[in-house]
Amino acid sequence: MKSKYLPLQVEKYVQNFWKINNIFLFKDDASLKKYYCLCMFPYPSGKLHIGHIRNYTIGDIISGYKRLEGYNVLNPIGWDAFGLPAENAAYCNGVLPNIWTFNNIKVMRRQLKRLGFSFNYNREITTCKADYYKWEQLFFIKLFKSGLVYRKKSYVNWDPFDKTVLANEQVLDGKGWRSNVKIERKKVSQWYFKITEYASDLYSDLNLLTEWPLKVVEMQKKWINRLDGYDISFKFGEKFLFFNFFLKNLGSICFLNTVFLSNEHILLNYFIRKFFLINPVIFKKINVVFKKFSFNNHIDLYDLNFLDVIKKNSFLNLFIKIKKKNLNYLFLNLLYNLKSFRKSYKFSLKDWCISRQRYWGSPIPIIYCNNCGVLPENEINLPIVLPKISNMTFTSFSFKKNIGFLNSTCPLCKSNAFRETDTFDTFVESSWYYIRYISDLMVKKKLFKWLPVDQYIGGVEHATMHLIYSRFFHKVMFDFGMVNTKEPFVNLLTQGMVLMGGTKMSKSKGNIADQEDIVVKYGADTLRLFIVFAAPPEQSFEWKTNGIKGCNRFLDQVWDIAFKVKSFCFDVNMDFDSLVFETYQLELLKKFNFILDKIYLNIFKTKAFNVVISLFMSILKMISSFRVNSNVDIFIYKTIFESLLVLLSPVVPHITHYLWSVVLGKHDLIIYQKLPIKFNFIQLNDDVFNLIVKVNNKFKKLLVLSSKLSDSDVIDIVLKDSDIIKFVSSGFKDIIYKKFKIINILVY
Ligand SMILES: [Zn+2]
Repeated sequence: MKSKYLPLQVEKYVQNFWKINNIFLFKDDASLKKYYCLCMFPYPSGKLHIGHIRNYTIGDIISGYKRLEGYNVLNPIGWDAFGLPAENAAYCNGVLPNIWTFNNIKVMRRQLKRLGFSFNYNREITTCKADYYKWEQLFFIKLFKSGLVYRKKSYVNWDPFDKTVLANEQVLDGKGWRSNVKIERKKVSQWYFKITEYASDLYSDLNLLTEWPLKVVEMQKKWINRLDGYDISFKFGEKFLFFNFFLKNLGSICFLNTVFLSNEHILLNYFIRKFFLINPVIFKKINVVFKKFSFNNHIDLYDLNFLDVIKKNSFLNLFIKIKKKNLNYLFLNLLYNLKSFRKSYKFSLKDWCISRQRYWGSPIPIIYCNNCGVLPENEINLPIVLPKISNMTFTSFSFKKNIGFLNSTCPLCKSNAFRETDTFDTFVESSWYYIRYISDLMVKKKLFKWLPVDQYIGGVEHATMHLIYSRFFHKVMFDFGMVNTKEPFVNLLTQGMVLMGGTKMSKSKGNIADQEDIVVKYGADTLRLFIVFAAPPEQSFEWKTNGIKGCNRFLDQVWDIAFKVKSFCFDVNMDFDSLVFETYQLELLKKFNFILDKIYLNIFKTKAFNVVISLFMSILKMISSFRVNSNVDIFIYKTIFESLLVLLSPVVPHITHYLWSVVLGKHDLIIYQKLPIKFNFIQLNDDVFNLIVKVNNKFKKLLVLSSKLSDSDVIDIVLKDSDIIKFVSSGFKDIIYKKFKIINILVY
């Protein structure tokens, strides 16, 4: 190859090498420490967008550094393939959902490979395959047998467009989160997971999630919402009935004159529209009024200035209005009526409705028998496979008309029985997929070894639903003895969005950067580099094309220096400890050490990969301006450059592989290298020191100076430095010098 950087040729060559040599296939190496890095898996829409690429690039970089650190890294990918969006899109595109889904997976897998992600494709999972959902069905049966599943006829959120029930979380401002049409209330039999049974653990174990973003923990706290208060019994007008309430503030009871109940409340079946209670404190009438409430169950009662009273175990549908008077009654009568009060707490979290009346999902393994009632399918009959449909009439498909599927045998009395025709909500699949990556056969030993996930990366939009459901699954599995940790994800990183024109890129707004165009023009390495250089991972950033060009130029320079290093034709097997360095060489080595410390701090501690890239750039700048006059110079130059290549390899894997193996002719692959370590100076000690130069508190540059200089000499050198002089050309207010450490020049 010519000595010009041609990314497309380089990337094609390297990807082919990886493929032939199975470089990224996962091997469970017992001799190494494990590291499990997980990116939220995509729904196979058919096209990778920049948001995906940001997510996977961050994950790939973390995986890469962990490999260099010596870990056995699991870095898997799969497909969240069931669900309404796929079914609707298939319908719109005139194809069957399975064909649509598998075609999209093929396209997206090719796009992932083109970007050089080091995913373990031998651990790929697809949730719409029976070898995935059979485990889910098995787990459901376990839950059923443990009493954590129930069926209930209740008012549900009915999406008239998608013709299915939605969870409360999937209703936004009274509209379906996918369809955006107004949600209706309908009474339907539904399957529920008793997630409320775990509300207390889900809430208190948030304390264990010290490596999660605080905002996510806060969102979950708010979602589960523990309310401390009192259970209060009200007597009805008639003597025979008691009516229990949860009241947050006991004192407010004596101001109470009206209670609002949802008009879906069961009491409406027993009473006319208006009746009254007797206030147990002041023995006055409390009017009860039935009222229509919004579906949004996250009205903040405090903000609305209502007394926060919630009937126990019901939809958040009860409000008590108060009037501020008669405060004096309170304490006298409280004591008197003590029997009516009990200290208590409750959670806002509701049980999770998991059944959907749609085709494209995992069948729920339940049998209806006329003799035995509702019971789970026999485990040996799993998986209950979703019936195949063969023509485009699938929109009118009905399980109830599919006799082959519907008719079954009762596992108990062996008489004829029917199958459940609802399917699982797709959130069921995504609640446990991180476990499926580990072991085909769900071997306990493997799960114990590989869990928890060490690093999880995904969008903050999953802070509540997905991340609460997975925590729930994990806790149940822990109680079943299937896993040995209480929480599934140790570290969580929620990456920011990629914006264009200040808003999130979206097809409907037409503000999309086509990643394939960029890859064709600049190569995958440039795109990966740009995406992490643009901002810290958690922050959103604005897409800028000139930023991409800058990253491309940086790789051009890396390329050119590699050829310069190659041209030295010099064997570097020098014994570092026996070398005697000149001051200018020492300066370079010390500076490298200093930068390396900062690099590792930012990789492993703050994960500020944008800072890491800028530090790589300063290393490159540093050696580009280093004049090579002797063999020791060559040794230094070459050693630092090779370290830079290794450090760069997780970010830009193609160019670094190529330069390392092909141009520099190294035998061991770059991905099998170890993280570079600092130069060890025994002979030179403190002859020089690193001085951080700041102007108006902002870092400008690092100087390496002799320790023998006086303070005034140091200041003099700084002020005359070619990079600093421009800032002080019109004078300065003050100079703060911390000996051998920092100098800060305050200018006007
Ligand atoms: Zn039976």
